[in-house]
Amino acid sequence: MSSPARIQIAAPHLNGNESKYVQECMDTVWISSAGHFVTDFEQAFAQFCEVEHVIAANNGTTALHLALVALDLGPGDEVIVPTLTYIASANAVTYTGATPVFVDSEPDGMTIDVEDVRRKITPRTKAIMPVHLYGHACDLTSLKALADEHGIPIVEDAAEAHGARADGKRVGSVGLVNSFSFFGNKIMTTGEGGAVTTNDAELAAKLRLLRGQGMDPQRRYWFPVVGYNYRMTNIQAAIGLGQLEKIDEKLAIRKDLAAWYDERLGAQPEVTIPKPPAWSESVNWLYTVRVDVRTSEARDRLIELLEADGIESRPVFYPMHQLPPYLDEQAVFPVADAISIGGISLPTHTQLTESDIDRITERLLHHLPAVRS
Ligand SMILES: *Cc1c(COP(=O)(O)O)cnc(C)c1O
Repeated sequence: MSSPARIQIAAPHLNGNESKYVQECMDTVWISSAGHFVTDFEQAFAQFCEVEHVIAANNGTTALHLALVALDLGPGDEVIVPTLTYIASANAVTYTGATPVFVDSEPDGMTIDVEDVRRKITPRTKAIMPVHLYGHACDLTSLKALADEHGIPIVEDAAEAHGARADGKRVGSVGLVNSFSFFGNKIMTTGEGGAVTTNDAELAAKLRLLRGQGMDPQRRYWFPVVGYNYRMTNIQAAIGLGQLEKIDEKLAIRKDLAAWYDERLGAQPEVTIPKPPAWSESVNWLYTVRVDVRTSEARDRLIELLEADGIESRPVFYPMHQLPPYLDEQAVFPVADAISIGGISLPTHTQLTESDIDRITERLLHHLPAVRS
């Protein structure tokens, strides 16, 4: 008897015009960062995000760095970041010389706790970075009101939430400058890739200058500032355009996957499913639940048992204050710490079927009593 195929946690799905567009790059030899796919992709992504300007970048981390550099951050400045995030959010702040100041998350959507943001604002706070974690939108309405009260810009890290909405607004359209990632495991991909979004024309021009080594657009090889080479290639953009043409289909499948998981796990007392608030429209990047275990070792054992059954899963992100570069043993973040003990991300990609979700949840519920005892 052959065993069923291994279920991967994430997988790119290139079922549109990606190959055709990449072939065009090859045939025309426009394989570097000049070429029409870059501008076509930027325009199409701007329309999708309901935002004025998109500046494509070579990955999501450089996009986020660019967004922060455009705000002239430097040593002595503080940026408020949730401790429960992927390390790129905090590292992008560190690259500028500014200091990330961590805050807790709220339990239902696992996103930034607005009341904790309020407590951590100081005269040095130069930006607030909500992260739309695992596809769940942050409470942008409350955050924007708080940020405006203090005159502090919002920089959304929307790397995991292409297409999500908060109170009807697309993520990546509310902050002053915002960023996305198109890494291979994200909701849409360009292989490696990223983008900055903004509605501010002046900032958009500054971002383009900084992305292209700082070269004056009116005077070739004249560099008024220290810039970066963070350009996206035409090949990446060709893949991205193919992905974007099918984004609605991708988001619909992810909605089904989350509903199937909810149905099978929602009534289990030992499993806490994500409960994005009614004002949000989640895009379900990685379906992430909390299992009721006393130690993270028990959760890790569950991941091993699932792997032995041919099912890939992974622990929730380690909160930043637990990691060596940002270690703070005194810090207490009750919600992030609790999520980090029992949090587990389950397979979520657009080639999964309802019977895959049956198999994953059946195996998870089968192994759970053993690791809890
Ligand atoms: C993926 C991700 C990034 C960075 O994206 P890369 O394209 O991998 O550099 C930033 N922030 C968050 C929250 C992410 O998940």
